[in-house]
Amino acid sequence: RELPGDPILENYIRQVQQASYSFVEPQKSKAPKLLHVSKDLSDQLGLSEKDIQGGQFLNIVTGNEPLSQSKPYAMNYGGHQFGNWAGQLGDGRAINIGEGIKGDKRYVLQLKGAGKTPYSRRGDGRAVLRSSIREYLCSEAMFHLGIPTTRALSLSLTGDKVLRDILYDGNPEYELGAIVSRVAPSFIRFGNFELYSQRGDIENLKRLTDYTIKYFYPHLGAPSKTTYIAFFKEVMRRTLDTIIHWQRVGFVHGVLNTDNMSILGLTIDYGPYGWLEVYDHNWTPNTTDLPQKRYRFANQHNVGLWNLYQLANALYPLIEELEPIEEILESYESAFTTKYLKMLRSKLGLEKEHPDDVELLSELDQVLTLTETDMTLFYRKLSTFSKNKPKQGLDTIMDAFYVKEELNHEIKQKWNAWFVKYSERLKLEDAADEQRKIKMNNTNPKYVLRNYMAQLAIDAAEQGDYGLIDQFYIMLQNPYKEQPQFEKWFAKRPQWAADKVGCSM
Ligand code: AMP
Ligand code: MG
Ligand code: MG
Repeated sequence: RELPGDPILENYIRQVQQASYSFVEPQKSKAPKLLHVSKDLSDQLGLSEKDIQGGQFLNIVTGNEPLSQSKPYAMNYGGHQFGNWAGQLGDGRAINIGEGIKGDKRYVLQLKGAGKTPYSRRGDGRAVLRSSIREYLCSEAMFHLGIPTTRALSLSLTGDKVLRDILYDGNPEYELGAIVSRVAPSFIRFGNFELYSQRGDIENLKRLTDYTIKYFYPHLGAPSKTTYIAFFKEVMRRTLDTIIHWQRVGFVHGVLNTDNMSILGLTIDYGPYGWLEVYDHNWTPNTTDLPQKRYRFANQHNVGLWNLYQLANALYPLIEELEPIEEILESYESAFTTKYLKMLRSKLGLEKEHPDDVELLSELDQVLTLTETDMTLFYRKLSTFSKNKPKQGLDTIMDAFYVKEELNHEIKQKWNAWFVKYSERLKLEDAADEQRKIKMNNTNPKYVLRNYMAQLAIDAAEQGDYGLIDQFYIMLQNPYKEQPQFEKWFAKRPQWAADKVGCSM
């Protein structure tokens, strides 16, 4: 134990000072039931089919049996929520039940929804099936999209009922309790550093930072001011890279509070996240983020920077020099511009760099918003465009438009003009249409977890049918590949789902 623990072992809600975690026992599940296990992750962890089916696995991932030789704990952190310092938050419903090393990789196994901790505040420490399915499917999907993320090992029912809502008639509405077991090298967040710093506890801030560097950034070297600066710089790079990936696939996190920012640059805490269907800068899946829409699609990189400022403030007492930190923060914008451009080029199959690319891309951005256009369908269909047939461009992507009748003469003209430019630009590339298509299809996913799909899986699961969870799990393992058996999910959101976006926690 290299980080300071909370000496109080009783599990009651409190402010925990000078400690990074509190020991807690997960609450026992009444009638646990395993709904799904990520085969890919369990294989990676070296678990056999027998290990998983044996019953002990289920007991462990539902809090009914401890992992041998480990003491479960909840972590202490603070955070800025929607731009305001919120004080101590901590793992209110997440409990780390064990740590291990496999190969040269470290893993922490965490149960989400396993009961109250000292950090539960007004919450019940529980998770419901609905949000658990969403986190389970989406975090595994992210992994297979090649995007840094925490992962999900299992999805289980606890057999308990959880109160989430009081209906209009005053009656309580109960939901099925569930637990997702999540895996990551570490769940440490920006907020862990912020809490110590805000409390002026510099000694523990240093311990936490040294610990994080020792285990997760060991290449940066021994603790020193220079190392801390390099650490901050690398966290910035990782954070930015992850956000660029989100923009690439149209993922909107929805709650980018600093307590949801992984110090490893992982996508973490899948709450009301969503996927862009209609390409729209202002879209957010978070219905509580109105009217400001702080966490909207096109603002994610700005919020990333804002959050990095909070981390910089938190680490400042260890560095005590403004200049190097400011220099790093000031490099963010230009790094974003460069990386974003590179990413967009790859989506269009452009390998070379041309000075007019910025214009071509910004014009695309404009035509994409002339009428409701499905982002995933558009990019995927675009790969079948042939550079010698610009006039057929619009037909190639026709399926991406939500209301084809809206394509009036003017809109069509604009699109056609863009396709002419694109075709001219493609002629400067070496790749033939067929080669370009292969490249584009490796960066533009065919299958993403649209919100209505998650909802269908949830509706079925609430009726005891877990088939769709498995279908989506399998499909999303190969998001870039053609999978004829899943072709029906390569389609626009149906009309009935148009206003059902986002999801509460
Ligand atoms: P989130 O916005 O989901 O990242 O959560 C913010 C804070 O609220 C974290 O400290 C969570 O642990 C806590 N929290 C969220 N849901 C619950 C719950 N049902 N019970 C206890 N704490 C919760
Ligand atoms: Mg959170
Ligand atoms: Mg959450």
